[in-house]
Order: sequence, then C-alpha cells, then structure tokens
Amino acid sequence: MVSGLCKGGFVDWPMLNALKLRILAVVAFLVAVAVLSLGVGWFGYMSALDQLEQRGRSDLALASDRLTGELGRYRELAVLLADHPVVAATLAGDRGDAADLLRETADKTGSLDILVVSQMGRELASASGSSAENHASQPYFTRASDGAIGLYHLVHDRYGQRTFLFAAPVFSDAGPVSGAVIVVVNIDAVEAVWRGARPTVFFTDELGVAFISNRSELLFMARDLVDPPRTSTVDYNADILRPFMTHTVQNQQGRAVWSVEGQRYVPRTALHLTLPLPVIQMTGEALMDVAPARTFARLQAGAAAAICLAFGAMLFLATERRRTLADANIRLEAAVEARTAELTKAQSDLVQAGKLSALGQMSAGISHELNQPLMAIRSYAENGEAFLERGKTDIAGQNLSRIAELARRMGRIIRNLRAFAKQESEGMTDVDLASVIAAVLEITQARARAGGVDIIWDTPETPITVRGGEVRLQQVVLNLVTNAMDAMEGQTFTQRIEIDTDRSGARVDLYVRDTGPGLSEPDRIFDPFYSTKQVTSDGTGQDGMGLGLSISYGLVQSFGGIIRGRNHPAGGAVFTVTLDAADVARSEAAA
Ligand code: ADP
Repeated sequence: MVSGLCKGGFVDWPMLNALKLRILAVVAFLVAVAVLSLGVGWFGYMSALDQLEQRGRSDLALASDRLTGELGRYRELAVLLADHPVVAATLAGDRGDAADLLRETADKTGSLDILVVSQMGRELASASGSSAENHASQPYFTRASDGAIGLYHLVHDRYGQRTFLFAAPVFSDAGPVSGAVIVVVNIDAVEAVWRGARPTVFFTDELGVAFISNRSELLFMARDLVDPPRTSTVDYNADILRPFMTHTVQNQQGRAVWSVEGQRYVPRTALHLTLPLPVIQMTGEALMDVAPARTFARLQAGAAAAICLAFGAMLFLATERRRTLADANIRLEAAVEARTAELTKAQSDLVQAGKLSALGQMSAGISHELNQPLMAIRSYAENGEAFLERGKTDIAGQNLSRIAELARRMGRIIRNLRAFAKQESEGMTDVDLASVIAAVLEITQARARAGGVDIIWDTPETPITVRGGEVRLQQVVLNLVTNAMDAMEGQTFTQRIEIDTDRSGARVDLYVRDTGPGLSEPDRIFDPFYSTKQVTSDGTGQDGMGLGLSISYGLVQSFGGIIRGRNHPAGGAVFTVTLDAADVARSEAAA
C-alpha cells in the first residue's frame, strides 16, 4: 500500500522522454507533410499556369487575327474605292452617282457608312445621306491628306455607337491628294459573332480603354484613368469611361494574375495576357480563369498529403506495434529471469537438502568407519607403550607407523565428508571420474561391508576426465550406489554392485548396475517425491524422500549430460550417466 503510494508520486523520466520524443517525431512528420504538399501544390499550380498561358496565348492570337482580318476587309474597301472613277468624278465636281454607289457598296459590305471627303475635309457624298460634317481637323483625315491610310476609333455622335474608321487618300492624276474615302465600320456588328466566347478577350487603345470586347460589361473600362496624354489622337467623352476594378495579385515569372471585382461574366481571378496589334493600333488582352488551375493544384496537394499521411499512419502503427511487443518481451524476459533465479535457488537448496539427508542416512556407517580405525589406533598405541617399556623399540616404531597410516585414512574420510557437505558454487571443471567414484566408495565402504555387498570397480589405468562439478558428480554417484544398496538390503542371494565406465567418442558413460529386484516403475523414478521406500518416524532405515534421483537428474542435465535408468535383462537395475569428455568439450570451446 505504502510502496504503491510512493511509486505513484514519482515521475518515470525515461518514459516521459520517450513520449516527448514520439510527439516530437509526429509533429516533425506533420510539418514535413505540410511542406511537401505545399511544394507539390505550388509546383502543380505553376505547371497548370504554364499550360493556361499557352492556351491563352493561342486563343488571344486567334481572336486578334479574326479582328484584324475583319477590319482589314474595310481597310481594303477604302483603298479600292479611292481608285473608283465615280469618286474621282465626285471630287472633280460631278455629284451625280456618288451617293448611290456609296450606299450600294455599304449595303453589300456591311459598312456602317462610306463617305467621300474633299481635299479640304468637306463631306461631298455619303451612303447615309448628306451631312455638312467637316473632317479637316480629324486625325484620320490628316493622315489621309498626307497620303497614308488613316485609322481611328470613336463613339460617333452621328451613328450613336462605337465605330472604326479607315480613311484612304484619293490621288489626282497630277499626283497630289485630292480627297479621301472614309469607310465607317460598325464595331457592334464585328463583335456580334464572338460575343460571350471563351476566353474573355478585349482590345484596348493607347489610353488603355477597352474599346472592343467579347464581354460587353468590360467596354469603356480603363485601367489608368489619367488625363489623356497629349500625343493621343483618341478623344472620349469622359463620362462613358469607367475604372477597371482590378489589381494584380501575383506576378511570378513575368506572369500577372489579376483579381477582377464586380463582373459577372469575367473570371474573378485571371491570368492576364497581352498581344500588341500595331496594325489596328490596339493591344489585345485576354483574361484566363485560374480557378481550375487552383483547384487542380489543391487536389494534387491534398492527394500528396493524403498519401503521405496514410503511409505515415501505417509506419506509426507498425512501430507502435513493434515497440509494444518489445516492451512485452522485456517484461517477459525480466519475469523469466526472476523466476529462473528463484528456481536455481530452490534447486540448490534441494541439492543441499539431498546431500544432508544422504549424510544422515550414512551417519551410522560413517561413525563405524571412523570408530574402527580409532579403536585400532588405541590398541596400537597401548601395545606400543608396552613394547617401549620392554625396550622393543623397533616393534614400537612399527606400531607408530600403523597409527600414522590409520590417522591418514581417517583424515581422508573426513576430508571426503567435508567436501561432500560443502555447498558447491563453482561452475564446471574437468573432473576425474575415477577419483569421484573412489571418494564415493570410501564413504559407502562401511555400509557395504556391514551389509555384505560386493562392490566391483576396476580403477582404469588412464584417467577419464569429464566436464562437471566434482562434489555434485559425487552426489550423483553416491545416490546411485546408496539406492542400489537400499534396493538389495536384506536380500538373501548375491548383493553386488558393478561400476564401469566406457568412453565412446566425445561422450563418457558411467554404469552402475546392481543385482536387486530392479525398477518397478522405470518411467517414474526421476519424478520428484517418487519413492517406494517406507517412511520411518525415527529417520532410520530406508526412508525415502523421493528426491535423490530427481536432484541427480537436474545435476547431470546442468553438466550437459543425461541420466537413464532401466532394468537389466539378467535382473537388477542399471543406471547410465552420460557426460561430455573433458578434452573434447575443451577443444569444442576453443573452436
Ligand atoms: P528415494 O531413494 O528417496 O526413494 P530416489 O529418487 O533416489 O528417492 O529413488 C526413487 C525410487 O526409485 C526409489 O524409491 C526406488 O523405488 C527406485 N529406485 C532407485 N534406484 C533403484 C534401484 N537401484 N533398484 C530398484 N529401485 C530403485
């Protein structure tokens, strides 16, 4: 409870940092996606504008061609008529047929009016009926008087509409200009065929006033309503002009994008293109709607962002999943490690318990084993004393050396017991199997002799070294030998234990065979707490805990070996312990 409260009070810094890092990574990714999609959108917009400009330029060129072609017809008409004999006659003073000719020609060519004007600018004949208008001061007439073709545009009071005029000079036979033919073109009629066509096109004059257009609302709109420059030959009635409500919003790579206000049939945001038309002294202008280009660019940016986000989300989920798995793995590993440590501890406790119980069982034998030489020492010492009194020092010396030998033997037994009882903690070493067996036999000798058990073991001439722990291996062998003695206890016929070793390749086998009744349930002998031995309350005799073989199994396994038990065909049980030969294990480790 208390520790839980304390834990809650602490901040888990590494986790907080990891969280911060992840949030930072997500934000950085989002920023990158935003930048990327903006870039994609910008690029898409620019390339869409490129295409729009190309299309607009060719549309504008086409519309301009149409206009100049149409107007050119009237220009040629003026030139042709200037050479007409009736015109020459009119200028010479004969007014007879001129009006008819002009009217007929105007009707056939769709001209608004055709005029013949004298050298002084006085109107001599016209298709629309006579008028006293004097053209002398008009710029187009001045041009014609100079022998050139004059052209002009104006909102004509006489016709009440926008007109385009061509004035062609009439040359007298002698050479100088004797007058002029003026063809008046009705702009409404010229516009009629392409009104409303796409794109929005208009033609502006030198004052910047839109005079011709396929969108009637743009007419007379002027971008720069300044005082007409002095050089301008155009003269408008000021109150028909209107300001062009535009402003350039963008000017990239020499392109102008206009925002046009308050016009229904003109795009609100448009790419503005121009084409100078010196032939008619105007500039062709087009407004290309950029809304589709923008929509396209937005779609591209959106698609790029969506793809990146989808990809990012997948990546994020995958890494989250991997991280969760890794976390779980770390937790699992920690749990397994803790559990393993617990088990190892429990196992070593068990091993120790097993050893102490084995010592307990053997204590009767051991005390006999120690008592016997002790008694012998005592009698040798007493005898030695008597021999010394009698002056038989040589016999006394023999007694002393016997005593020393017996004391050495006792010392060996005690050393073995001490080593066995010690808790072995070191790892694996090279162990001489023969000395392990010898130590076990020394411990069990007394009991074997008392019980009349024959132990057959021929110490091999060359040492057999295996990998393992000396004391633990002793414990295994001791358990096998005492189990064999337990099994044969009280048996009336031969009680014999045969111990043998056999080296085959990289492995060494140790056999412990007895002549007892054999294993009643060979499959269960290694189960913990499996025992067929009676439990006695005083702790003497054959009381089994059923742990000896299961502990032995774990020990042999920890050496990388195998222990097996089976019944011999000729009777009795035989146990085999298979271990790695030391030299082979070492050379493998070196490799
Ligand atoms: P314990 O000796 O305390 O019973 P062990 O694990 O050493 O525990 O032995 C388990 C059982 O295996 C014994 O109770 C016995 O039934 C059987 N066993 C072991 N060794 C022999 C043997 N040499 N002959 C017959 N039975 C044996």
